Order: sequence, then structure tokens, then C-alpha cells
Amino acid sequence: MGHREDLRERWARWSARHENGAPVLPDSTVMDVVRRLEALEKPSPHEVKRLIHRVAGPSVSKVDVLRGYRSLVARGVLTASPRVLGALCLKPVRTSSGVAPVAVMTKPHPCPGSCVFCPDVEGMPKSYITDEPGALRGLQLGFDPYDQTVHRIRSLSTIGHATDKIELIVLGGTWSSYPRDYQEWFIRRCFDGMNGHDAHWLEEAHRLNETAKHRNVGLSIETRPDLVTVEEAAWLRRLGVTKVQIGIQSLDDRILALNRRGHTGEDARRACGILRAAGFKIHAHWMPNLLGATPESDLEDFARLWDDRGVRPDELKIYPCAVVPGTELYRRFVRGEYAPYPDDVLVDLLVRCKALVPPYCRVTRLMRDIPVHHITAGCKNTNLRQTVRRSMARRGLRCGCIRCREVGWAEVDPSTFELHDLVYETQTSTEHFLSIQCPSSGEGRRLAAFLRLSLPNGVALSSRIVPPELVGSAVIREVHVYGPALSLGTRSLHAQHRGFGTRLLDEARRIASSAGFARLSVIAAVGTRAYYESRGFSRGDLYMHAPLRETRRPDRSRALPSKARGGVLRGAASRSVPGGGP
Ligand code: SF4
Ligand SMILES: [Zn+2]
Repeated sequence: MGHREDLRERWARWSARHENGAPVLPDSTVMDVVRRLEALEKPSPHEVKRLIHRVAGPSVSKVDVLRGYRSLVARGVLTASPRVLGALCLKPVRTSSGVAPVAVMTKPHPCPGSCVFCPDVEGMPKSYITDEPGALRGLQLGFDPYDQTVHRIRSLSTIGHATDKIELIVLGGTWSSYPRDYQEWFIRRCFDGMNGHDAHWLEEAHRLNETAKHRNVGLSIETRPDLVTVEEAAWLRRLGVTKVQIGIQSLDDRILALNRRGHTGEDARRACGILRAAGFKIHAHWMPNLLGATPESDLEDFARLWDDRGVRPDELKIYPCAVVPGTELYRRFVRGEYAPYPDDVLVDLLVRCKALVPPYCRVTRLMRDIPVHHITAGCKNTNLRQTVRRSMARRGLRCGCIRCREVGWAEVDPSTFELHDLVYETQTSTEHFLSIQCPSSGEGRRLAAFLRLSLPNGVALSSRIVPPELVGSAVIREVHVYGPALSLGTRSLHAQHRGFGTRLLDEARRIASSAGFARLSVIAAVGTRAYYESRGFSRGDLYMHAPLRETRRPDRSRALPSKARGGVLRGAASRSVPGGGP
């Protein structure tokens, strides 16, 4: 039996045991556990385990109770409760941002880049190492998109996560360098995995997903700045992509050249302009400690991400450079031509960097998941995020990024929410970062929802980067309502089911209309089309659109850099919008 058949067999046995099998506990026992769990205020995982062992027996696990609970909910005996699901869910942080992330990896393929730090492992996509989490799963499943998607959904579901809203994250080298036939096939098979049905072509797979059990609410790929063109952006949209992970790494041309990145800082600016004009979310990757950098030059470079109106990404991964055998950087390290910063210097740099992050950006990573035994030199602290956070706290600093402010699993009191509008300029647009904040949720974690509204300016129109379908439109690039991923229809006190999305959409309409735009458009993920239709949007070719009733002439002053809008928030101005209500 081949390796892949063997894996399929193992899956079948595993899912029969964990997913499809009948509950192993009597209903009365499950109900007893649930009743006691509901009475507990935020029980710790240890308390939950102790309670289960006391009521149901020492060999009973959370998964056993969860399976019984799901069965009772499915039969209508119990109503799903976020509190109970939260207590029974393993690794709750996985879906605390409201959607279930499903990472899938493309097959090995040459990358046009020759970056000095990039590992090139045989049988793996460029830059990935065999036993990196995520990469290993891809390798074991022969990089098959369908198998990876199904496997990941099942794993998340088994440990208690709702999987009706899926964010598909395509990893592996440089997406834009793969043949388009392969790209189309790969995405179609991922959708087939979500749909539980094999489609003949991509559009059919998209259509099936609109009503599927596992709906796609976001799709990201990774690529290089020099491969982003207007035409490529249109192609990505046709595939259903909503977010682009882009390897900026540095904006300093000297550092880029030394590290053989093969693109310039201007390429990164141009790519960000194109992606923003086409409504994509921009997830930048940035690397401190590259060959030739110093902590001072890195700090300056990091500040440029926000000070330069051509960049200003929506999300950021910070990957401190590390020395991995087999790379050009490794050879330089051996010859004494490169040395990574000591850990304390790196932590100090990251503390100072994080203090600069504006509130419209989400820092998703502070370190790449390279297993430490592959790192010859460089930071091996797998707890780097916590180390940096503690160091910030000691200095009285706090990271103001989205991730550090989102409510997660906290219950929100909707009567206390405030709607904020953070306005900042980019080279090609005026951006409104609309957010709903709940001051009562405590510990600084009060961000319950946000919306990114982009008003393209004259520069975007004259440089022809606005897709024809979006000319004359204000564009919603993202709507995100936080809270644990719950099954559609589950009522809760968490942010996700409180009408915050509608409130944000109404405010976006009002702003776009008063700025003189005739239409509001949205880059809708395939599985969110029905949601937007129910809110007055209709389908275009690659986007969805809603007419705006009251229109004035466009306010061209928005196209100009405004001193009044600059300042404290590194080029942004914030105001509270009165009259918020659920
Ligand atoms: S572009 Fe990315 S994948 Fe390609 S060589 Fe450079 S770091 Fe590696
Ligand atoms: Zn943060």
C-alpha cells in the first residue's frame, strides 16, 4: 500500500473514531456536565478537566463530552451555548478571531527569487522546511489540496471548533510563479474539500460553496512585490483571493540588494497601491536582522512601513532573520561575514518596533515557526511574543495593534459599544478604519469588530490601477466581527452575533455617500456573497456592489495629503462616531 493510501486509511479510522462515531457517553451524563459547566464563570482548562473526571469518570476526555454535546444539540435536546463550547473546545485561540483557519501548501516549484536566507529543501516548496508545522501536513498528504483541506477541517472540528466559516490560507513559495492551470486546479480542489462535492470547474466550485456547510470567508496567497501587476490582481480576484501576503522584507534598496531579493522598495510600494486599489487586504512580511542591517537601520526601516504612504499594510508578519544550513547566509555566517543579533538586542528592537504599530494593523506573527534544531544561529526563543510583551509592560509600553486589542472569547456588553473612525491617507486612497469597541470588556481587549473602507483618490484613477469594475466605487476591503467561530445561527453574547457587521456597513455607506461616491463595492469572499446580497449588494463580475442614494460631487481634498490628519497615530486621525447602537 502506498504512503498516501496508508494515510487515507488512517484518516478513515481516525474520523470514524472521532467524528462519525456515536457518542460514547449517556445523554444524562453529558447533560450533567453541561449543566455544571454553565454555572461556572470562565473555568480554567484544568477546572473543566477535573469537573469532567468527577462527573463522568477519569478516562473521559473533553472530546467525548463534546461529541455527546454536539449530538444533543443536533437532536434539538439542548441549545448550543458559546460558554459550554468555549469550555470544551481544545486550543480555543485557533478560532478566537471568529473564523477557522485552514492552511494548505502547494507542491514544490522553483521560485524566481534567490534570497540569501531562504532554505531550499528538496521535495518542499521554496523557503519551507520539512518539519515546520503546516508544511509537514502538506508533505504527508502529497501536497494534495483536497486532502489537506478535508483533513484540516476535520481536525479543527474534532477538537471543538465550529468550521462553517473557513479562512483558506495557501502557503508555499511564490504563488504567482506557479502555472495558472495548476493555480486554478489547486483552488478548485480546496473548494471541493470545503464543499464535499467535486466540481468540474472553478466557478461551479465557487457557486456550490455559497450554500456549503464550510463556507469560505477569506482566501490568501503569498507572493513577491515584483510579481504584482494590475493583470495579476484581476486573476487573483477571479480565483476568489481576498488577501495577499506579500514579502516586502525591507524598504531599503541597499539591504534588498545585499540579500538578493531581486526587487526594490519601490516595487513594494507599487504592489501595495495595486492591491489596495483592487480591494485586497495587504498582509506584509518584514524581516529584521537581514544581512547588512543594524538594529538602528531596522528601526528606521520599520518606521517607514507606516510613515511611507505607499506602504501602510493591514497585517504584518515579522520574521527575524535566522541562519539555516544550506543557505548563502549560512556560508556567510561560517565565514564570519554575518552574525545575528543577540536575543536581548532583538527583543529590544521588537519592543521599539511594536510600539510604533498603528491601530489599523494586525501583527500576526513575531517569529517564523522554524523548528529550533534547524536554526544554526538566530533567535530560538519560541516564546518571543510573550517575552516582548513582558518587556513592553516593564517599560510601560503596550502594542496597539489589532491582535492585541481584539475581544476574542470575552463576552461583550453591546449597550456599551462605541463606533470609532480612524482616518489615514495612503498614496492612492483615503482609508477609514471603522471599529466597534466595547470599553467594558476590560484588559484593553475591547475591539469587537472593524471594517476597512477605502476611498480611492485621483492618483489611483490617473495611474490606472483601479480595476474597471471599481471605477467610481468606494471599496470595503474587509469586515471582521470578532468572537469565537460559532455555528451560523447560534445566538450569543459574543461580538459575532450582535449586528455589529450591519452597523459598520451602514456607517461605511454614510461615509462613502457623503464623500460623493455613487457606489459602495466589496471584495466578497465566495462564502459571504449571500450575506452581502441580504444587505443590498448585487453581484458584479469580480466584486459586489450597492448603489448609494445621496451623492455629492467627490471631495477631491481627500486625495491630498492632509497635515490635519497626520500626527499622533503616524499619519492617522481618529474620531468617535456618536449614536452607536446594536
Ligand atoms: S522570494 Fe521567497 S520563496 Fe523565493 S527565494 Fe526569496 S524568500 Fe525564498
Ligand atoms: Zn500587537
